[in-house]
Amino acid sequence: MTTIDPKAPVLVTGASGYIASWIVRDLLEAGYTVHGTVRDPQRKRGMEHLHALAEQHPGRLQLFKADLLTPGSYDAAMQGCELVMHTASPFVISGFSDAETALVRPAVEGTRNVLESVERTPSVKRVVLTSSVVSIYGDNIDSLALSSDPEKQIFTEAQWNTTSSVDHQPYPYSKVMAEREAWKMHDRQSRWDLVTINPGLVLGPSLTRASDSASFGVMKQLVDGTMFLGAPKLAMGVVDVRDVAEAHVRAGFTPAASGRHIVNGANTTFLEMGRLLRRKFGNRYLFPFMEAPKAMIWLIAPIAGLTRKFVSLNVGYPLRFDNSKSRTALGLTYHPLEQTLADHFQQMLDDGTVRRR
Ligand code: NAP
Repeated sequence: MTTIDPKAPVLVTGASGYIASWIVRDLLEAGYTVHGTVRDPQRKRGMEHLHALAEQHPGRLQLFKADLLTPGSYDAAMQGCELVMHTASPFVISGFSDAETALVRPAVEGTRNVLESVERTPSVKRVVLTSSVVSIYGDNIDSLALSSDPEKQIFTEAQWNTTSSVDHQPYPYSKVMAEREAWKMHDRQSRWDLVTINPGLVLGPSLTRASDSASFGVMKQLVDGTMFLGAPKLAMGVVDVRDVAEAHVRAGFTPAASGRHIVNGANTTFLEMGRLLRRKFGNRYLFPFMEAPKAMIWLIAPIAGLTRKFVSLNVGYPLRFDNSKSRTALGLTYHPLEQTLADHFQQMLDDGTVRRR
């Protein structure tokens, strides 16, 4: 049981990010003092919404400069905090040549760096780490190893991703290595506890326009016609960004919270998401209308920015997650997928990311 003093500041690393901005908003709305770290507090673009959130809500926000790769960077921001929420980590799936530098080092060394600050800061009682479902599985085909019974091919918090590497699925590799590092450091001591949030693909409206989160690239491809006549038959977990933020706050302040939590609102596919969007917005937009044969996706994979190995091991295989622990232990309820998609797409229409028809 860990009780957090509601008057103590709460540290949120990577405060300007897509998910973190919603966490900061929820904390400020509830009246907490938030210490937010960002790489460049003086940066104009991508900070406006944080200043606006602080003005609109009763809590207080103080921004600190910190970088995942700079030792000691988080010490100042952590002073006096009992609760640390570590969200900062690159979420990019393309556009880099060296995955070790772009993903793995900031994720793993960054987590170690933040937790070394926790070790130096006696006030800290709990760390909530933003992990991912990709720390639980690597490729969809891993589902088949769970059971020969398709009904039982469902991932829980008991599983770990053992199939990713820096060369194959580097983002999942960065997440599982970072989470493993966090548990290793946690297990060496008894002063602070560790609670992890393991979300599926996060979608839903954004408070910032400056995030590089891969969530936006996936959503864009879903709605811009890229998949209209040939979506890959790819099963995935999807969750609303507002539910992910709420999960972090509940994980922080629920005294009995412990261990890992799959936070996933729906087990779905691109085609099903296309259907849900079409039901709401009609036939004017080029949402996925049919699935392409796997052989065709395999053939065009390099042009679409995918590896053929990814297509072989993921397309056409099942993928389901059990979210029951998040509902019972954290009391979480989920937005319906249709609403998540509709709110996200409506925001894209309103800000001109996609053209109205
Ligand atoms: P995001 O908007 O890109 O946020 C990532 C944050 O990490 C940014 O605030 C960024 O800071 C920070 N960051 C990256 N490299 C850094 C470095 N070297 N030093 C300090 N900060 C650094 O992406 P997001 O989707 O909100 O992701 C947040 C967390 O959720 C990540 O841990 C991600 O793995 C996890 N997650 C995301 C999803 C999803 O579908 N979006 C699903 C599961 C888990 P700057 O603003 O300074 O660039």
